[in-house]
Amino acid sequence: MLGSMQDWPLVVPKILDHAACYHGEREMVTRSVEGPIVRTTYADLHSRSRRVAKALTRRGIRLGDRIATLAWNTARHFETWYGIMGIGAVCHTVNPRLFAEQIAYIINHAEDRLVFVDTTFIPTLEKIAKQIDRVEGYVILTDAANMPKTTLPNAVAFEDWLKDVDDDFEWAKFDENTAAGLCYTSGTTGNPKGVLYSHRSNVLHGLAVNTGDCVGAKSTDVFLPVVPMFHANAWATVFACPMVGAKMVMPGAKLDGPSVYELLEMEQVTITAAVPTVWQMLLAHMEANNLKLSTLRKVMIGGSACPPSMIETFEKKYGVEVMHAWGMTEMSPVGTIGSFKFGMEKLPWPEQLKVKSKQGRAMFTVEMKIVDDDGKDLPHDGKAFGHLMVRGPAIARAYFKGEGGRHGTDSIVDKDGWFDTGDIATLDELGFMQITDRAKDVIKSGGEWISSIDIENFAVGCPGVAQAAVIGVHHPKWDERPLLIIVRKPSADVTKEQVLKFLEGKIAKWWTPDDVAFVNEIPLTATGKIQKVALRTQFKDYKLPAAS
Ligand code: ADP
Repeated sequence: MLGSMQDWPLVVPKILDHAACYHGEREMVTRSVEGPIVRTTYADLHSRSRRVAKALTRRGIRLGDRIATLAWNTARHFETWYGIMGIGAVCHTVNPRLFAEQIAYIINHAEDRLVFVDTTFIPTLEKIAKQIDRVEGYVILTDAANMPKTTLPNAVAFEDWLKDVDDDFEWAKFDENTAAGLCYTSGTTGNPKGVLYSHRSNVLHGLAVNTGDCVGAKSTDVFLPVVPMFHANAWATVFACPMVGAKMVMPGAKLDGPSVYELLEMEQVTITAAVPTVWQMLLAHMEANNLKLSTLRKVMIGGSACPPSMIETFEKKYGVEVMHAWGMTEMSPVGTIGSFKFGMEKLPWPEQLKVKSKQGRAMFTVEMKIVDDDGKDLPHDGKAFGHLMVRGPAIARAYFKGEGGRHGTDSIVDKDGWFDTGDIATLDELGFMQITDRAKDVIKSGGEWISSIDIENFAVGCPGVAQAAVIGVHHPKWDERPLLIIVRKPSADVTKEQVLKFLEGKIAKWWTPDDVAFVNEIPLTATGKIQKVALRTQFKDYKLPAAS
């Protein structure tokens, strides 16, 4: 027997309809790529997104066509998203920090018909324009006054492109399982693979992220997503905020400490989200200038492990609650978030910090388990670690065009629907998950595993250390031993002996790195994570002192 409730498809344009109808006056503030701060409202965004949708339709863009964006978080980028999704076309967010060759590959692979691009990234596209010659035109996200000269074919300023189009337009009608967005994972092995989100998965994920134990944004909140819209849907904020009418503050091209601080204070931001490297820059700026945060109450930190020292600084020095989160592009992307269970806020601070340093609990719509190499379930005791498997309605079951499918199918999940995240983790009795490592980064020493993340987390807490990375280096007896690579803080002169002394008692003795190397820079990926592959290449022939 079927229920007799209304058929109300879970489609993305409904989110903006709601925002415009019930929160039409609520602002979106953008630090524009041109420079000035620009203020708009959900009512304006709704109207302009419909104009984008109408303009796309007039130019022959149809259901299922892919449209690329290479853009910062701005109101224009937001309007482009909703305009594309509102006609059932697919918004392909391209990470502009990828190598030009990778960008060319994914634009061709996606068969993007148009590209919407910020002026910042025009030079990147000009270099590869000949390789991506199936693109029919480029819409530059600016106005005539700021339109630069470009060799890109069929380039037009966004405001000119919209000029003759009004907002008298009905969103297209389509099934909620229609594709809405496309985002390629960085693909450390093989070519990048496209994750194809649906309208239904985006709406469900936005709702899940808005639950109280997760981000839980409200209409009274002011949300600054520093995490870019090209990094896995800006962690769902672009759906979650309009859903509740939260004000959004879009940082444009400036993600440095002073610029982010200025927006946090000027716009009285209450919640913000980004990877640890962004917060490192903010905290350094605040420390150097003796600044405080007057309105911020929550900061969501994920994308790579958040060191306990960073959690402690935010919570104890600045009074801001840290929500440590974990996820991946394939998961829309949020999987877990570290909010307390009943009574945990009464624990002594060192115990609280231990809980907060874990990656958190699964939110509704996410199921998790850990298994050994043979696929056998492991206990949830906080000790056993194994391959982290996930399933849920906002988690990928295949990549775009069937890339990477198993056993001659396009499926990337096992027969019970579990997706292997490639992460190694523990799960405790209360459901808190802790990432030990990426499966490919874990250090295998004498048949046992050493967690590089654990060592890194403690090492960055050592005075004088700005960044830390741990990789496995060949050892004749133990196969691999950990090498700790460090970037010192400006003018700090911390030594190998001081760092190793600092780690004493914090990690198991046999995990102690065999050596410490000091470098000026640690290579980061396009999404701000430590590039372990590059480090392993750099230190390929490194001879550990004990091994020589
Ligand atoms: P990409 O794989 O393209 O770099 P993703 O953002 O999809 O981009 O990366 C997902 C991976 O990032 C996860 O599988 C995990 O290894 C890592 N990650 C994300 N959040 C955390 C976190 N809080 N702690 C540790 N690792 C994390």
